[in-house]
Amino acid sequence: MELSVVIPVYNEAANVLVLYQRLQQVMQPLAISYELIFVNDGSTDQSLTLIKELSRQNPWVRYIDFSRNFGQQIAISAGLDKARGNAVVILDGDLQDPPELIPALYAQWQQGHEVVYARRKTRAGESFLKKSTARFFYRLLTRITRTPLPVDAGDFRIISRKVVNTLKQMPEQQKFIRGQIAWIGFPQTFLEYDRPERYQGQSGYSYSKMIRLALDGITSYSNLPLKMATVSGFVVSGIAFLVMLYTLYSRFITRDYVPGWSSLMVSVLFLGGVQLISIGIIGEYISRLSQNVRNRPLYIVNESNIPEESVL
Ligand code: UDP
Ligand code: MG
Repeated sequence: MELSVVIPVYNEAANVLVLYQRLQQVMQPLAISYELIFVNDGSTDQSLTLIKELSRQNPWVRYIDFSRNFGQQIAISAGLDKARGNAVVILDGDLQDPPELIPALYAQWQQGHEVVYARRKTRAGESFLKKSTARFFYRLLTRITRTPLPVDAGDFRIISRKVVNTLKQMPEQQKFIRGQIAWIGFPQTFLEYDRPERYQGQSGYSYSKMIRLALDGITSYSNLPLKMATVSGFVVSGIAFLVMLYTLYSRFITRDYVPGWSSLMVSVLFLGGVQLISIGIIGEYISRLSQNVRNRPLYIVNESNIPEESVL
């Protein structure tokens, strides 16, 4: 098997068939052996029915059906677990990652790059809020981490068997695959493309899912928020100490003290705020720690046409 294409699918019924056709048009001229792995991430529409129909027509269409919605990152991980190709392409199911780019990615991979990711030059049809928060997030993340994360790149990329096998050894529950791949290293390069609008349907990424992904990315690749909590603790205690000196001075030396209600309120509220923020940050890390300690399976498969033993 030369190439596997892993496609996470969440309510993409309106896109699956067009996606399949465009993939076929791109893959056939390449004249290599390939498989398409659709991971149905708890869709509530007809996506699974359509994928199963395709798998009856074409034995190289494989699918994994989750027991519920586990999220895009976990769907990709499941696909990677079952992929058998020497190289694997990760592709969105809504045609925002144009399949026509695959030959170019494949060519770069053949030249010896272990990872070739596709970088978004422009993003069509996405709201100002989404584009600007994404832009901000990628730049913030590269600033606060030592892992060389590519900016403006999603998961659309080709990765080698070596990288896939390494990813399979990384057991963390909070998947941020583009971060993991950057962390792994190896020679990487990128292509640029104009990201089109999603073909049909609606984004499966609610703002809460986006925030969760962003927090997973930050907490997995940076401890800066924890350090900031510590530093702000020191700064606030320093200020509090100075205020204490001043209070003692005015109480015992100058003896001209007024009942300092406002300064008291300000310092109590300020301290309380800093403490709550710090506890919150610590909580974010601890909740992730405890998730990993529980050691649950990453996902639960309902059904699949990929036999168990094909797991490499
Ligand atoms: N997706 C998924 N599970 C989810 C949300 C999304 O598998 O919980 C898939 C979705 O079907 C698509 C890809 O992840 O193939 C990207 O999602 P989407 O297009 O909704 O996100 P956006 O492009 O708006 O950021
Ligand atoms: Mg999309």
